[in-house]
Amino acid sequence: MRAMLLDTPRRLLRAADIPRPEPGPGQVLLAVKACGVCRTDLHVLDGELPDPALPLILGHEIVGTVTATGGGPGVDRFGIGDRVGVPWLGWSCGECRYCRSGRENLCDRARFTGYQIDGGYAEYAVADARFCFPLPDHYADLEAAPLLCAGLIGYRSLVAAGEAERLGLYGFGAAAHIVAQVARHQGRRVFAFTRAGDRDAQRFALGLGAEWAGTSDAPPPEPLDAAIIFAPAGPLVPAALRAVVKGGTVVCAGIHMSDIPAFPYDVLWGERTLRSVANLTRKDGEEFLALAPKVPVRTEIEPYPLERANEALDRLRAGRMKGAAVLHVAAV
Ligand SMILES: [Zn+2]
Ligand SMILES: [Zn+2]
Repeated sequence: MRAMLLDTPRRLLRAADIPRPEPGPGQVLLAVKACGVCRTDLHVLDGELPDPALPLILGHEIVGTVTATGGGPGVDRFGIGDRVGVPWLGWSCGECRYCRSGRENLCDRARFTGYQIDGGYAEYAVADARFCFPLPDHYADLEAAPLLCAGLIGYRSLVAAGEAERLGLYGFGAAAHIVAQVARHQGRRVFAFTRAGDRDAQRFALGLGAEWAGTSDAPPPEPLDAAIIFAPAGPLVPAALRAVVKGGTVVCAGIHMSDIPAFPYDVLWGERTLRSVANLTRKDGEEFLALAPKVPVRTEIEPYPLERANEALDRLRAGRMKGAAVLHVAAV
């Protein structure tokens, strides 16, 4: 099969012909139709996340159809030809204190797709059937892909933000463009923060229901009840804390962030909460994939053929992506 391989961090992905994987017990083999490109892929590529399983196939927003199953527990959830989605959480132990308390996202032994398990930048992928999701018919393959991480993590972050009416979104990319639509659907008011001068992203946010869009180094026109930080920039943390009211919450949604600068205690005082969101649970996925077509969430995508994955990653790094990049894996 054709695949884009990460041989070692900080190098371009390499187009390669490699053997098609075989599904083991509990796994399904998927013909990949589309795979979203996520900022986490950049963090793996750039060596910012430790110990990726090299050589590695990136990609944890996989839309594919089942072409074979490996037998064993769970595989009967799906039949040949079913369309499924594969998210970042590829496996959890089911036994640790986190798994046993509804927090498999924090599992001590969790394994992640496109990081410790080969992902979807390829024509085929294998996945543990218990961690795959059926996908709503409402979405075509390319449009469904960003739901699987940008959507799921965005949704988990939105839940973590609590009942906030005035919601700030820092970094208006793939996740924020989905969260803004869900938040509006829930009757919240959305304030979008972008890099200075990024008028395109600001217009994009306003078009998706944000009532205000501006730069992250300036305060919002009124105080916020909560904020979600999607951009991997530590200085946004004190900025967002300053923007929220007493009792407000700031959620850091990324897996990696540059260092957070020191800030006076004043900024946190007043029972403001600062927290992160890590990974996802299958419950998040089930809830969000049921909600998305009801909103309905519309995903804005930039499609790239599989072979141009490096270009998609470059554009994402440069902040030039409007919405979500998705690799289109055409059948040969
Ligand atoms: Zn566990
Ligand atoms: Zn992701």
